[in-house]
Amino acid sequence: MRGRFAPSPTGYMHLGNAWTAFLCWLQVRQAGGVLVLRIEDVDEQRSKSYFAAAVLEDLAWLGLAWDEGPDISGAYGPYIQQERYGKYRVVLDLLRSRGILYPCYCSRARIQSVSAPHAGEHAIYDGHCFGMGTAERLAMTKKPSWRVHVPAQDISFVDGIYGRQRCFLPTACGDFVVRRADGLYAYQLAVAADDGDMAITHVLRGRDLLSSTAQQIWLMQLAGWTAPQYTHVPLLIDSQGRRLSKRQYGISIRQLRSSGLDSQSILSYMAYKGGLVRRAALYTHEELVRQCRLTDIRTDDIVIDDDVESAIHLMRQPL
Ligand code: GLU
Repeated sequence: MRGRFAPSPTGYMHLGNAWTAFLCWLQVRQAGGVLVLRIEDVDEQRSKSYFAAAVLEDLAWLGLAWDEGPDISGAYGPYIQQERYGKYRVVLDLLRSRGILYPCYCSRARIQSVSAPHAGEHAIYDGHCFGMGTAERLAMTKKPSWRVHVPAQDISFVDGIYGRQRCFLPTACGDFVVRRADGLYAYQLAVAADDGDMAITHVLRGRDLLSSTAQQIWLMQLAGWTAPQYTHVPLLIDSQGRRLSKRQYGISIRQLRSSGLDSQSILSYMAYKGGLVRRAALYTHEELVRQCRLTDIRTDDIVIDDDVESAIHLMRQPL
């Protein structure tokens, strides 16, 4: 069993990131597997190496140890996406050789205006540039993004928490971008190539990515990899119903740490709030591995306390 935690180094780690890291770690430790730490810095503009260094430091401080990663190495490296572009190129070439990769010259405004309304995060592209002739392409002056043409096919999988999912690719994601106009590889391609190439068997991540899973499975199948088992988990939100953000004050692991909190209290707080343990009490890492049941996790998003620092401090008080 090989699991992975794949943070994007675009800010300091906050409680929401720590929540998924904790669950990845828990799932792997309970199964006696290998935990891979992969730094997802494929978005070069938003990623910073000092945030990547901070992620490693914060995870280590939380006691969520990994077995393979940028600082340990291992048989499936490199563990930093910016060092893996050669592998993404291979998948891109494969898509090209299948005749399903095509340049898209559409402006953002056009894509927004013609996209089918969609409940998920991404707009569904109408396929306008698919089938464009060579002469027409040559006349274009704009740098294109590169899309992959999806077949009229259902992808179905069973999520560890949210159960059976069935996605018809043309309406679930439509033709999607695998390489951006600025030359950067898109998240969907990078993550599918990484999970496949790193022989990941279990992916656990936030439920905001549930809608990306079908396209990743499809890409992996195309490239000849076995898709992992997926478990999407509810997100931590604040009392206003907002997802925790890297810009929000007071919830970064560094701030919680500098307020005198220890990692055990933070993990125990999250385990309790998420319904993984019954009692609001302090648990050691070993107790959490023994007692938490991933199947007991709540499916609704988890509302954290407004004054989360004080609430976590309370975990230390005997009942
Ligand atoms: N890098 C993504 C993030 O930090 C996670 C991607 C994934 O787990 O597939 O949100």
